[in-house]
Amino acid sequence: MLERWMLGPHMLAFLPAISLAGFWLGGELVLLAISLTIPLIYGLLLTSDSPAALRRARSGQDLVSMATAQDLAEQSFEHARDAEMHTACLLLEAEGLDAISRRMGEDVAETLRVLFLHRLRELLRPEDSAMRIGDSRFMALIAPGLRLDLEALLALADRVQRGLEEPAATDTGVHYLSVAVGFCGSSRLRAGSDGADMLDCAQAALREAIENAPSAIRPWSEGMRAERRARNALLSEVETALAKGQIQPWYQPQLCTSTGEISGVEALVRWMHPQQGLVPPARFLGALQEAGRMEQLGDAVLHHSLTALRNWDQAGLHIPRVSINFSEMELRNPRLVDRLKWDLDRFGMPASRLGVEVLETVIAESPEGIIARNISALARLGCRIDLDDFGTGHASIGALRRVTVHRLKIDRSFVTRIDRSEDQRRMLAAILGLADRLGLETVAEGVESGGEHALLAQLGCDHAQGFGIARPMPAPQLAEWARAHALRIAEAQKLGRSNG
Ligand code: C2E
Ligand code: MG
Ligand code: MG
Repeated sequence: MLERWMLGPHMLAFLPAISLAGFWLGGELVLLAISLTIPLIYGLLLTSDSPAALRRARSGQDLVSMATAQDLAEQSFEHARDAEMHTACLLLEAEGLDAISRRMGEDVAETLRVLFLHRLRELLRPEDSAMRIGDSRFMALIAPGLRLDLEALLALADRVQRGLEEPAATDTGVHYLSVAVGFCGSSRLRAGSDGADMLDCAQAALREAIENAPSAIRPWSEGMRAERRARNALLSEVETALAKGQIQPWYQPQLCTSTGEISGVEALVRWMHPQQGLVPPARFLGALQEAGRMEQLGDAVLHHSLTALRNWDQAGLHIPRVSINFSEMELRNPRLVDRLKWDLDRFGMPASRLGVEVLETVIAESPEGIIARNISALARLGCRIDLDDFGTGHASIGALRRVTVHRLKIDRSFVTRIDRSEDQRRMLAAILGLADRLGLETVAEGVESGGEHALLAQLGCDHAQGFGIARPMPAPQLAEWARAHALRIAEAQKLGRSNG
């Protein structure tokens, strides 16, 4: 308290008086020294990130469990209700802190957490309370007041967000983090609610803010309750669907641009919904991720893909490889390689028949650590590694060299209209040149027209995939398509020979 008072802006008013006293006591030199050092010391103490201030924050009770957070929210709520006033719960997520922890280490992340909490406390009034409730999540409980309406809380959230988003200087450099804020004021809750409801509603608001990243602020509103209910229904429905085998991969062929033959297929998951029909992955992957079921999905897709490969082999078809999309969560699993090895052995399938698609964003964020080790181990096992959606994930050349990659899968946005736009063509040629220098193969995704396909071959892209060749289809249909395609190629070769 005393320190806050000492450091309050009103102290600036005393500076001239202190300087005059210095002049009276020791003349101009002392006056000069005092006028220079006092603002300096003052400035040092005032900066919320000063080492002394951070040491104080470190000694505080930083991290509390969710159970404690709930108790505190209930206390604050009851206190406000007894005083016939209002309170509010603000939740803040430091976006990108987990990526910093992965990229630069836990120590840097921990320094930033301490700094954030300290800043948060400085941005609030002394009677409010602030604590850390997760790796990158913080909670503020606003002391009871009469004017805690939506407008006042929005202004508060905005002020806190701006203060927290100031560049954070540490020994390792300056960090720029964005902050998502979700909040709930007790005045917005239905009659009969309690502190636990207030925290729950703030959590729903924060979830929505995070989904609208970066730097979103969301107040709790009743509409979120209905959305939450629908989301929870989807979560349980999608889990059941996975368990019942309604979620299975379809396959989309990839062609070699020089021979025209099938060089592989990509497994793309679909939900055969009993009422809604075919549901695309964009509608349910998020829910599976939230339910923590990505590994189970990966198992189902792998099992289905290996079964499909075996059936196609037995039918005498030449389909060299199935590529599977791996989520970041799966790639973090230390048992991933053993699991794959075991499944490949069980099916008697060499690892070279399996392609592993990794999103460029995943290796851009974590070119070291468990993900990179898993990818390298899969490559050593014999799997082919594709960098998916290349060109959208900002992976550095350094990251590309540290993580084993065999092929760049050029994102659809660079492929579309290459036959009609000179700029687009130049960009694609630059990507192909980069791949060539790095000794990597290339596959273009989203090839929709014959013109695009022909130009890709001309520019030297190795493989092509897209609706212009074929849409994803169930495994038995792919067998039929492959048979017809083999006939088309044989016909074309016969024609070529008779013409030549
Ligand atoms: P992706 O891996 O980049 O897959 C390519 C997407 O582009 C697929 O969408 C495919 O149907 C679509 N596509 C292919 N050719 C064309 C084309 O010519 N034009 C257009 N407009 N689109 C084309 P889909 O099947 O909806 O998959 C979307 C994303 O969902 C995939 O993007 C992948 O990231 C993810 N996904 C799909 N299956 C799985 C899975 O089994 N596991 C995981 N972790 N992710 C999956
Ligand atoms: Mg893919
Ligand atoms: Mg892709």
